Amino acid sequence: MERAVELEQGIHQLTFGREPLPGFPPPNAYLVFGSDTAVLIDTGWENEDDHRARAAYIREVNAPPVSEIIITHRHPDHGGGALHMHRETGAPLACHPNDREAIENDRLHGELHVADDLQHGDRRELGGLSLEAVWAPGHTSGSLALFAPERKALFTSDTVLAVSTTSIGPHDGNLADYMRTLEMLKDVDARIMYTGHGGPVKRPKARLNALIKHRHEREQAILNALRDGPLSPAELRVRIYKRLPQSRERLAERQLVTTLTKLIEEQAVVAEENDRYALR
Ligand SMILES: [Zn+2]
Ligand SMILES: [Zn+2]
Repeated sequence: MERAVELEQGIHQLTFGREPLPGFPPPNAYLVFGSDTAVLIDTGWENEDDHRARAAYIREVNAPPVSEIIITHRHPDHGGGALHMHRETGAPLACHPNDREAIENDRLHGELHVADDLQHGDRRELGGLSLEAVWAPGHTSGSLALFAPERKALFTSDTVLAVSTTSIGPHDGNLADYMRTLEMLKDVDARIMYTGHGGPVKRPKARLNALIKHRHEREQAILNALRDGPLSPAELRVRIYKRLPQSRERLAERQLVTTLTKLIEEQAVVAEENDRYALR
């Protein structure tokens, strides 16, 4: 799938590049512009063909000059093309300070600094349209969402997806933060969420409630499984995820470790030897 579309006036979704996992949609970047200036939210993978397609589309829609490139978080499917799109547009980069170092090292290969920190509440005026930074830690500690109040549109990146739940990695993610972020996003008065992969979320509050419910159910399923005795992540995976394709087994185990980490912090579970977990 390769496409770019205007979602509403001045908001374009650019979807170029490969799927991160089989059957999981490629990353979305967004071109957002008002009467004065344009902002690019995310830059997709590091891939020459994708860069060319993105740059051609930006020229084609006659947007005002891109004045800033906002990288929503450190992952390669969102910030991989940052260096290229900076060179293409001349626009400086911005991100949340918590993901800055990872982005500079891993996405910019130390060749460029991120010019601006975007803190919660920072605002960019584009001319009749604005973007407000919403700090949304959890998927990564420096994950950002962006809110366009004039349209009540929230760009969620990977924090909220319509197609699946969000992966929270044990190393760069934190499930307790993520749960707090989902609650916080309910207070953002969003009409629609434009997401990091796949289509928009048209009923934001219902989606947020469903995601919160899913996480609580998953925690409960783990606690129930551990009633029979200590289990490893692989053993838990067999009990909790039914009919999982083999290609997703490791990802599922990583998700379980993330949830177990939260349960350990809450003193409900202890980590034992031999990579096993038990009820406290
Ligand atoms: Zn991500
Ligand atoms: Zn992603």
